[in-house]
Amino acid sequence: MKRKTTRLIHPIQTKEHDRLPNFGAAKTPIYAASTYIFESAEAGAATFALQQERPVEGEPAPFNYARMGHPNLVQVEGQLVALEGRSVGPISELPDEALAFESGMAAITTSLLALLKPGSMLAYTTPLYGGTRQFLKDFLEPWGIHCVPLRQSLLFSEPKIAQGPSLKEPPEHHPSEVSQWANQISGEIGRIPDLLYIETPANPTNQIWSWESLRKLVEYWSVSGNKPVVMADNTYLGPCWQYPLEEGADLVVYSATKSMGGHSDLICGTCVGDATLIRRIRPLRNKLGNTASPFTAWLLSRSLETVQIRMQVAQSNARFLAERLRQHPGVQNLAYPGSGAMISLWLNGGQDHCIAWKFLNQLRCIQQAVSLGSNESLACHPASTTHSGVDPVERKEFRISDNLVRLSVGLEDVEDLWEDLQQALEHAFPQT
Ligand code: PLP
Repeated sequence: MKRKTTRLIHPIQTKEHDRLPNFGAAKTPIYAASTYIFESAEAGAATFALQQERPVEGEPAPFNYARMGHPNLVQVEGQLVALEGRSVGPISELPDEALAFESGMAAITTSLLALLKPGSMLAYTTPLYGGTRQFLKDFLEPWGIHCVPLRQSLLFSEPKIAQGPSLKEPPEHHPSEVSQWANQISGEIGRIPDLLYIETPANPTNQIWSWESLRKLVEYWSVSGNKPVVMADNTYLGPCWQYPLEEGADLVVYSATKSMGGHSDLICGTCVGDATLIRRIRPLRNKLGNTASPFTAWLLSRSLETVQIRMQVAQSNARFLAERLRQHPGVQNLAYPGSGAMISLWLNGGQDHCIAWKFLNQLRCIQQAVSLGSNESLACHPASTTHSGVDPVERKEFRISDNLVRLSVGLEDVEDLWEDLQQALEHAFPQT
């Protein structure tokens, strides 16, 4: 069984699985055990030696303690590699590995902490999810990690906001501009960054960063022999509509709370990619203790079986709504990348929050909540919620304005969703 969809439903059975009884259950049960019994002292010692990358003598026990690993974790991490990994072959030959965490922030922070140290430099695309931005500002920077924003204005005269039908069209640029850009950035920061952190499309504006330009930037930086690690947060379009590992990223992080989980009933995060880098992150996850629990891993595993079909329906609903919303006179601007379920709506009627809140308060079918990628549609006001902790000057620069509404389109009947949006717009703009 090689194909992705099949492998999501029938994950690869590892030798650990073969040794566990499941009494013939069609689905992997939740292994709620915190600790695992060793068949012998030798097996226990071998398990710990394996974990610490010391020479292993004898047959290790499959698991020792659930913080380090458990059957539900092995199962879900196998699915994650099937979804995102760069090749499908025997498990021992896969170039990628995966890690599941207790939240998206745990995945992001643990991965960054494992790969950076005081004195390191991180360059990041703008804007970022508010929680990530605050982690950079409130933790990494005081800890001595220099965090440098990349601004599109260095490369393009006007910020490119996704509007077209396809993500495949990179913004136009001339190759020499990239080296100019790279030089300018390197000049500004004084050296080549150790890690490039990418969020495209960015939360909450759907700002697109062209992979082609970013790849050129990394290539240009790498000429000196010091290639930055490229890490991408793919929460907005993954795991179905964009594959950062194929675009040149080394690692992909997710808030699996979103489309992967898809039902607003779990908090989880994942990191997938280059096995060598993942092996640097795993020991820190084991020490920080933010490993996905058996229940979290089981819930995510259950959800991943249907992620592709859910994301197809959500995308088709979002495309329909984006087209209709774009034509409404109350909508000043709309950013939708052509793929995925996230729509950014800038409303007419002034730059304060009044109209946006009036519109949100009138929604009946669409729920007002943060989070995204669920089967129910959600709407929120980023400036006062998800991005309220971001500096107001920065919010202004990156168009996270008070008239911005973020819409996550779900799986409801699309006509019900449109009726709801239409009546809320009529309420906010009675004269149109
Ligand atoms: N990355 C993005 C793009 C997000 O939208 C979020 C949460 O909204 C996160 C990361 C953080 O994930 P979590 O809430 O699962 O910790």
